[in-house]
Amino acid sequence: MENPKVERLIIIGSGPAGLTAAIYAARGGANPLVISGRAAGGQLMLTTDVDDFPGFPEGIQGPELMQKIRKQASRFDTRFIEEDVVSVDFSQKPFVVNTESSSLKAESIIIATGASAQWLGLESEQKFIGKGVSACAVCDGFFFKGKNLIVVGGGDTAMREAQHLSKLANKVTVVHRRDSLRAQAALEELVKSKENVEFKFNTVIEEILGDQKVTGVKLKDTQTGEISQMPIDGVFVAIGHKPNTGFLKGQIDLDEKGYILVTDEIYTSVDGVFVAGDVSDHKYRQGVTAAGAGTKAALEVEDYLENLK
Ligand SMILES: Cc1cc2nc3c(=O)[nH]c(=O)nc-3n(C[C@H](O)[C@H](O)[C@H](O)COP(=O)(O)OP(=O)(O)OC[C@H]3O[C@@H](n4cnc5c(N)ncnc54)[C@H](O)[C@@H]3O)c2cc1C
Repeated sequence: MENPKVERLIIIGSGPAGLTAAIYAARGGANPLVISGRAAGGQLMLTTDVDDFPGFPEGIQGPELMQKIRKQASRFDTRFIEEDVVSVDFSQKPFVVNTESSSLKAESIIIATGASAQWLGLESEQKFIGKGVSACAVCDGFFFKGKNLIVVGGGDTAMREAQHLSKLANKVTVVHRRDSLRAQAALEELVKSKENVEFKFNTVIEEILGDQKVTGVKLKDTQTGEISQMPIDGVFVAIGHKPNTGFLKGQIDLDEKGYILVTDEIYTSVDGVFVAGDVSDHKYRQGVTAAGAGTKAALEVEDYLENLK
């Protein structure tokens, strides 16, 4: 259904980046419309304890944090549509944004669709996310101080996670399905130099074991087929992230992995289309950095809309 109204600002995504952008844009008078996405609230909805978001000295549960940020955005002049965006047309102004049920127009856009951590796809993995299974060492490593951990993967992400965890954990075992790593040489050397990191090549996790939390894993040797069990306190899955940019193909410059190409963190290749959070940031990937980028994008939108007048 085509909607003739031209919105001043459409924000695509309702994680920390999109909702923080909404708070600033609404308070700045842009009357934003947030297309929240089917996974409203974003990645923090997948986790339990969030200990590093400022303002919560006792920590906070991920879903509760997102509920609070959304409530804060709603307190001002923010409207929401609980759908995914399926396609956009940035070749014309106003821009066109097509959701599952309607076609919308906007003078400016903030894309804050985040990235999805890649998981192994095991049923037991889903069961223990937030209870010993994580995809973020910087976020959750601290909960495993002095423990024995597994990092799954063999690329740059896995090496960075292993490097970070080696400073906190008693022992880190990198489990990789191939016979060698495919990380940058310098990163690989750095991790290999750590005394408390060891490698298990040609190995995959068959099952994550535990009751209330992770207590072990079932491993399979990919060459011999041999199955073994290993007691472990936590499993960090580090096999990469996928930016949620499928609906943008051909409309905006993306890098080879699909992340939105930016200048100065928030400007895209299309004038009037801004970006915030993990959808362009493959390095820091934190709630706070995403919120910070959302702030910057909203403030830039304010200037952009002012200059349109
Ligand atoms: C298990 C786990 C634990 C974590 N723990 C912490 C932690 O303790 N502390 C911390 O700071 N960070 C943590 N992180 C990282 C943090 O969640 C991310 O850095 C942050 O959520 C990124 O925010 P974002 O707004 O950029 O994207 P996201 O949170 O990914 O949100 C993206 C939003 O875009 C929407 N969307 C996607 N595609 C579309 C579409 N086509 N149309 C409309 N909407 C769309 C989604 O529905 C979602 O609302 C954790 C991540 C994971 C996976």
